[in-house]
Amino acid sequence: MDELEGGIRRVTLPLPTRPGHVHAYLLPGEDGWIVVDSGVGTPDAKENWRRELEHAGGPVQAVFITHFHPDHVGAAADLHELTGAPVHQGALDYAQCELVWGNPAWSERLLDWFELHGAPHDVTEELVGQSSLYRPFIRYQRDPLLMREGERLDGWELVAAAGHADGQQCLLKNGVLIAADHLLDRITPTVGLWPASRPDPLGDYLAALDRTIELDPRIAFAGHGEPVTDPAGRARALKEHHRLRLEETVAALGPEPQTGYELSFPLFGDDLKPASRRFAIAETLSHAERLVLEGAARRQEDDGIVAYTAA
Ligand SMILES: [Zn+2]
Repeated sequence: MDELEGGIRRVTLPLPTRPGHVHAYLLPGEDGWIVVDSGVGTPDAKENWRRELEHAGGPVQAVFITHFHPDHVGAAADLHELTGAPVHQGALDYAQCELVWGNPAWSERLLDWFELHGAPHDVTEELVGQSSLYRPFIRYQRDPLLMREGERLDGWELVAAAGHADGQQCLLKNGVLIAADHLLDRITPTVGLWPASRPDPLGDYLAALDRTIELDPRIAFAGHGEPVTDPAGRARALKEHHRLRLEETVAALGPEPQTGYELSFPLFGDDLKPASRRFAIAETLSHAERLVLEGAARRQEDDGIVAYTAA
């Protein structure tokens, strides 16, 4: 556990996949800690949290989940059982959490989705198998207290940061942004188009980055990696990254229709493992859809396959 400014503590939890760790945060409040994010709900998660909270000392007044990805929401129910504290989650984010983790038919839906975007059947099965790896370790809290942008939790204001996840919420107080996966120091947060996600995640993300620049927090504590000491500068760099990626996507498009799966090869390389290919396809689609909206690409659907051409 690391002590950060203003009595904030950072708890680093292990992850079985890259980047190998996730940060949760303890925010000091009137009636005890607010625990932000939970790590994955592995069998030892509750015991790990028991130790961390004992070490921190004092009661927990609330748990806040920034977004429904496994490494953030996975042990929310463990934290609730351990502390009795209510779990808070964004309303849209919880709806998606239910849709993905509370729904045994989700894998089927993902399978159809990758086939719609051109992945061959055997590849699709491997891709979806990969995404089910975490499923047994998701212990999200049912019926949490739902919150919306602008509401406050013990003085921390919820700031919506869509893009990496549609319903992701950050927390802001006194120039400190608890950024979750909206801003990361070295890593570029993934921004992908998934089934049932909002139609233009990259557009959402670019707007959220503009909002970060406008809010101009002094420091951002992120879900992975080191604190971001120049959040507005980092937001500008991420905007620039996506501008270049959009240009590369335009360059990869031609008169012949190409699926998201096919386009992911020139954009992300040939030798990705299925787990990475999955994110590559979703990210390629978020760029292609942005280009359709900007008038630089066309989408067509033929025989149940979506493909893109240059406009
Ligand atoms: Zn995430």
